[in-house]
Amino acid sequence: MGRWTWLAAAATAAIVLGIGIGWMLSGKESAQPAPEAKVAERELTTGSVAARMAAAAPLAQPQAVPTQAFPQQFPQAPTPPQQARPAAAMPSSAPAKVAAARCANPDALGVTRTVAIDTTGGPGFGSEQFKAYDFLEAGEVVLTFDDGPWPNNTPAVLAALAAQCVKATFFPIGKHSTWHPEILKQVVARDHTIGAHTWSHVNLAKKTVAEAKDEIENGFSAVAISAGRPPAPFFRFPGLSQTPELTAYLAQRNIGIFSADLDSFDFKLKNPDKVITSVMSKLDKRGKGIILMHDFQHSTAVALPTLLQQLKAKGFKIVHMKAKDAVVTLPQYDAAMLKAQTGQTADARPTASVVRTIDDGQ
Ligand SMILES: [Zn+2]
Repeated sequence: MGRWTWLAAAATAAIVLGIGIGWMLSGKESAQPAPEAKVAERELTTGSVAARMAAAAPLAQPQAVPTQAFPQQFPQAPTPPQQARPAAAMPSSAPAKVAAARCANPDALGVTRTVAIDTTGGPGFGSEQFKAYDFLEAGEVVLTFDDGPWPNNTPAVLAALAAQCVKATFFPIGKHSTWHPEILKQVVARDHTIGAHTWSHVNLAKKTVAEAKDEIENGFSAVAISAGRPPAPFFRFPGLSQTPELTAYLAQRNIGIFSADLDSFDFKLKNPDKVITSVMSKLDKRGKGIILMHDFQHSTAVALPTLLQQLKAKGFKIVHMKAKDAVVTLPQYDAAMLKAQTGQTADARPTASVVRTIDDGQ
């Protein structure tokens, strides 16, 4: 996966832009920012990363670099098999070829269908903030996990999902991804979908637009570098705290916004049994939905095996979201992130060509 592949994705995005104009317009109309009071009430799930731990890397200082030089240095993630997708399928109504063939558990919950989402024009999903694209049928649920990757908890979530042969969507934090790239690569290798959730999980509504854009772009670039491939153009605002300026920016970047239909509030409950009760009781009322949970939360990792069993027992069906195209990250943010993580610059030469022994004292 090199820069040229990314450029091809950019070209594809430009071509489909024309096709997606109608959708873009309707998507903008549908993008209703959360009421101020609602945003104010909502706690951030992990809080600002910067507030909790020392910065692992500075924010990007965009700089001019040859765009084709540095992506070759990206560590490559294992490539899961890609399924062919019909063009502009959103959502696909065709039943996915369920991964049952690879599933060792004959009684697994499994994936009922997979949808390919075209994020041209920045559509929003999840009835807490968006109403337009409700693609789930009665009884269907989408599992989403935020704020990882995190040791122990994320691997436990992956194990629980694998045991039931289901796929989910993860919204990793940029900084966490740079700290634990090997865990993020496990998520990718298991064919889950990854998006992004900012660089440091600050409340973007409290930042300047320029600062918020840096948070968004650094988040995508950090996830791309850590995962070894660009993620889906799927974004979730920390605390679901969005602004009209930023939803417009994401629309321009062709990045979809994922709110939720059903918030588990697992970060508040901090108890596996309560997490299960929270999700199942809300599902009983709504009958379907995009569920917001956190692979960062220990209680969720512990709750998930039982929660998935209960979903199956109650007849709920899992829908897996994929992106029609990967996100097109911005080269200057990629370069800044790469430099921050590795100390390498785009024009880095091998040490031996920079420092050469000319006298070894013999
Ligand atoms: Zn979060």
